[in-house]
Amino acid sequence: MGSTDDVVLGDALQVLQRVFGYPEFRGDQGAIVEHVIAGGDALVLMPTGGGKSLCYQVPALVRSGTGVVISPLIALMQDQVDALRALGVRAGFLNSSLSWDERRMVEAEFVNGELDLLYLAPERLTSEATLRLLDQGEIALFAIDEAHCVSQWGHDFRPDYLSLTHLHERWPKVPRIALTATATEATRKEILTRLELGDGRQFVSSFDRPNIQYRIVGKKEPKKQLLDLLRGEHQGDAGIVYCLSRASVEKTAEFLVANGIPALPYHAGLDGSVRQRNQARFLREDGLVMVATIAFGMGIDKPDVRFVAHLDLPKSVEGYYQETGRAGRDGLPSTAWLAYGLQDVVQQRKMIESSEGDLAFRRRSQAHLDAMLALCETVTCRRTRLLEYFNESGVPCGNCDTCLTPPESWDGTVAAQKALSTIYRLRKERNQKFGAGQVIDILLGRKTAKVIQFDHDQLSTFGIGEDLTEGEWRGVIRQLLAQGLLAVEGEYSTLVLTEASSEVLGRKREVKMRKDPTPARSTTRTASP
Ligand code: ADP
Ligand code: ZN
Repeated sequence: MGSTDDVVLGDALQVLQRVFGYPEFRGDQGAIVEHVIAGGDALVLMPTGGGKSLCYQVPALVRSGTGVVISPLIALMQDQVDALRALGVRAGFLNSSLSWDERRMVEAEFVNGELDLLYLAPERLTSEATLRLLDQGEIALFAIDEAHCVSQWGHDFRPDYLSLTHLHERWPKVPRIALTATATEATRKEILTRLELGDGRQFVSSFDRPNIQYRIVGKKEPKKQLLDLLRGEHQGDAGIVYCLSRASVEKTAEFLVANGIPALPYHAGLDGSVRQRNQARFLREDGLVMVATIAFGMGIDKPDVRFVAHLDLPKSVEGYYQETGRAGRDGLPSTAWLAYGLQDVVQQRKMIESSEGDLAFRRRSQAHLDAMLALCETVTCRRTRLLEYFNESGVPCGNCDTCLTPPESWDGTVAAQKALSTIYRLRKERNQKFGAGQVIDILLGRKTAKVIQFDHDQLSTFGIGEDLTEGEWRGVIRQLLAQGLLAVEGEYSTLVLTEASSEVLGRKREVKMRKDPTPARSTTRTASP
């Protein structure tokens, strides 16, 4: 692709058709490409699958010089470069996986103007040697992929991204295009400031993914619930199941295989070659289920992922949106399914409380979690809530679980008072520390060994909660935690009151709760591995 030819043969559209084989640009792509070719800076917000890559690949081919792409997805660089080379694009990458010889070859190609695209890991740019190398060649543009990694407010901060500010000080004439699929207003502002992109143009595509059906269900027996979903609606489909821990990834994958569903595990504790192999199989074969931690998925481009299931609560709405966004890139109906319960809230609150981060970090994590919990507990359309989180408005979608079976809400004030006053008595009057299990046993008036041992049958709240079932009490405590009317503390996740609890106990505040819909009884038989 000689630069003079490009000028003659014209424009972006021709590159799109000749090199990439697509008839036309999609959505904002055309406008973005035009803007960057003309030398403008840009911030591009586009949902996963929206087609961000072409926004810098096409300008890199049209403009003279090499497009330098900064990407944190080191594991995928080889694949991305191979795919481009297969299209006849002269592409290379520099990251820690290369041998000395390989590195020297790529460097020479860049300096000689023999590369259309050069992919770089962000930490490369912290080295003066790389900067000097870049000085020796001609740069068509800088593309900053996964630009939200520069944001400390975001959920995926990478310190190396902070060095990207200097790009434009060193190369003021080279256009920069920052791209991300996840950015709230706060993250977007931070990207603009940190990268000094204030004068650039912003291209914000809608975050709506109308073909994805969002469902969040109460967690009972998660593996079995998952199996019901797969057998009932996604037999033979490719999908991703996210679990929080490596151990549960392994167990869940084994469980699915034992029940006749082809599944593979993926987490950072597995050998690199195993991970690579499982990822390659998932991409190439039909109908495989990948059971993974969130280590899996960034940059994965598999169009026919029919479902994304979460067996544990994501830490933020951004994470949830990004992970579920891997479903249905081909535009066909797909499912985003999440099982969520009391234990998730307890666990995540506890993780934040005991984290190493400073106070500001814990506050941020808390705010992220609160937004995720609000999405779980909402009685209105999930899609609308999700879009609102990204500052878009929406009308009830008619397709998510809350639209299809609107959950009832109920006045949970009295129930909340019963639970909170039990905890008050344990903590304030007796200075004892107990978790949700014991509190529920007391409310239900159960004379368990532990209740007898601690004289909890003598408490005035013993048995005052017999009007609700154990499951309903778990729902009450979960929602109190979700609404910040309760907190957890310490190694044993003991329940503690918050400042807001006293408003409820003092009858100054009402508590609205969501009635968990009773799930249809399942008939699936399961085999344990
Ligand atoms: P993102 O990086 O935003 O997640 P990609 O750049 O990987 O998305 O593109 C997602 C998919 O859409 C890819 O398979 C890509 O080839 C396809 N695609 C992108 N732009 C177009 C277009 N203009 N016409 C047809 N297909 C496109
Ligand atoms: Zn809806």
